[in-house]
Amino acid sequence: MMPPLCCICDKDFEPNEGGLIYFKEDEGDKIANERLRQPGFVGHPPNAFWFCEKHYPAAKELSYLTKKEAFMILKDKNT
Ligand SMILES: [Zn+2]
Repeated sequence: MMPPLCCICDKDFEPNEGGLIYFKEDEGDKIANERLRQPGFVGHPPNAFWFCEKHYPAAKELSYLTKKEAFMILKDKNT
């Protein structure tokens, strides 16, 4: 697992102050996650991202989208 670091603002936070969001898997994520499910493979799911408490609610609302679609919206809001 990656350490909690908000992927929008790069804020370093305690795990209980934000959360990990799993976005909808795109084709590449599906392949990578399939591999992660095999015994012996450990890694961070490519569709899982940390968000600080400030960005978590907006990210959660967009978790039905793939990370690419969600980040387009999230970055737009934060620029
Ligand atoms: Zn943040």
